[in-house]
Amino acid sequence: MINRRKFISAAAAAGMAGLIPKSLRSVNLPVSRAGGELPVIISTWKHGLPSNAAAMKVLKEGGSVLDAVEHGVRVPEGDPDIHSVGLGGYPDRDGRVTLDASIMGPDGNAGSVACIEHIVHPVSVARKVMEDTPHELLVGKGALLFALEQGFKQENLLTPAAEKAWKKWLVKAKYEPVINWENEPNKYHDTIGLLAVDKKGDVAGACTTSGMAFKMSGRVGDSPIIGAGLFVDNEVGAVTATGMGELVLKTLGSFLVVEFMRNGMSPQQACEAAVMRIVHKLPENKKFQVGYIAVNKNGETGGYSLQPGFDYAVYQDGENKLTDAKSYY
Ligand code: ASP
Repeated sequence: MINRRKFISAAAAAGMAGLIPKSLRSVNLPVSRAGGELPVIISTWKHGLPSNAAAMKVLKEGGSVLDAVEHGVRVPEGDPDIHSVGLGGYPDRDGRVTLDASIMGPDGNAGSVACIEHIVHPVSVARKVMEDTPHELLVGKGALLFALEQGFKQENLLTPAAEKAWKKWLVKAKYEPVINWENEPNKYHDTIGLLAVDKKGDVAGACTTSGMAFKMSGRVGDSPIIGAGLFVDNEVGAVTATGMGELVLKTLGSFLVVEFMRNGMSPQQACEAAVMRIVHKLPENKKFQVGYIAVNKNGETGGYSLQPGFDYAVYQDGENKLTDAKSYY
């Protein structure tokens, strides 16, 4: 006797080809739309503006697209006044600054570090993981030991301002991640994710963060997980995410946006569709922010978020501009 599960899988196998629209069965449709001028650089939040400028400088001086994305995100990593990335990032609830970062290049190679301490530029450690090890991801103490072996300097990342904010939080120590915790006037906030397409059409991306402020020790978000916080496919384009990493992880958001683009959506449509996936699948979506930005190989860009308040920077046609993303709510 055929049981229900066997019946469903037999029916699925037989009917699959007919049920899935032809466009979704294709492995690589030509990436759609007119696109914009190349090169193009796009990155998350206001701190994307100086990051884009640094990345564009690398491209103009003849550097690779991978060099461009790495150097772009090193700017906020090294800025002690940005409390969501690198030096000066807000610590976890025990007062330790732990960082997550990833990088991915046009050849499909990628590297990441998660929960690394004491290193100002985790994106550069991620690049070393990618280039000098057979691995993709190193975490915690192992990541730090690898970085030190590679000649990175061990530093104290907890600045007086970040320590003060943590001590203020400790007074109530309420463990409740909220949307845009750091979104106070005149403060930068959130992960930097930066994507670039050079004038040949080669694509790369990088993403780096101190994650959620005052998180549990050991918490890792979406940013170092390839396919979640960052994904690059040189035949299609690139995507990065910011906001509540748990929602991005549960929907493998950046990979999803790239796949939507592969199947013919524009970057804007693809970001919207991935936010809709969160809305449909995860009831907690109402309480949190998630923002996606995307670029396709033709230089067309897009961005969309769950909640209002997300902006991103695009450097294209000689102009480096901040855009307010449209949002679902
Ligand atoms: N996505 C990051 C994380 O969850 C944080 C952020 O972008 O605000 O770690």
